[in-house]
Amino acid sequence: QPKTIIMNIDFNKNNDGLVPAIIQDATTKNVLMLGYMNEEAYQKTIDSKLVTFFSRTKNRLWTKGEESGNVLNLVDIKLDCDKDTLLIQVHPKGPTCHKGSDTCWNEENTSNFGFFSTLEDVIKERVANKETKKSYVASLFDKGINKIAQKVGEEAVETVIEAMDSNDDLFLYESADLLFHYLMLLQAKGFTLKDIEAELIKRQK
Ligand code: AMP
Ligand code: ZN
Ligand code: ZN
Ligand code: ZN
Repeated sequence: QPKTIIMNIDFNKNNDGLVPAIIQDATTKNVLMLGYMNEEAYQKTIDSKLVTFFSRTKNRLWTKGEESGNVLNLVDIKLDCDKDTLLIQVHPKGPTCHKGSDTCWNEENTSNFGFFSTLEDVIKERVANKETKKSYVASLFDKGINKIAQKVGEEAVETVIEAMDSNDDLFLYESADLLFHYLMLLQAKGFTLKDIEAELIKRQK
């Protein structure tokens, strides 16, 4: 049962009895859609374990997926710092957007890994603009995939050595080296963190 209790929610901040509910995929953490809930919608969501909104256009309770079958199975509900916004984590059945995409923000679910996604983009950009001789990334890619793989091996060994030693600073330094070179190897092989995520999610089942 979600720990957020209905009495704690500030339904009247906007004088309309509604709070915004951000819908997030519990597994991938992608933001899927935004809806509004009143007390009744909230209670129905808890009771049925299917996310139910108060639809301002339909002017009634609306269980997402009631026509399409693309329901949102409730996993958890979190209340924000000032108790006026819900974060609802779900396992979506099928695409969440009625236009057919997984999320209501049509773009591919790319920058899911925060800074690491930015790093992936930087590596891609350096490889694309190879003329810049100053780029370490570009020069490593020039030497070929075996060289990149070998570097990952070296950094892995260094990380292992520092893990067995007791110098935390060196361990962090070598761990960062390892992860950075590993991102390059992934890219050289034509993969991204998204592929690793998919593989790991498969194993959860
Ligand atoms: P559904 O609840 O999936 O059966 O969809 C019923 C209707 O609700 C659709 O025809 C849309 O008008 C609307 N709708 C469904 N999903 C969304 C969404 N993610 N955002 C906004 N409106 C939606
Ligand atoms: Zn708030
Ligand atoms: Zn949509
Ligand atoms: Zn190193």
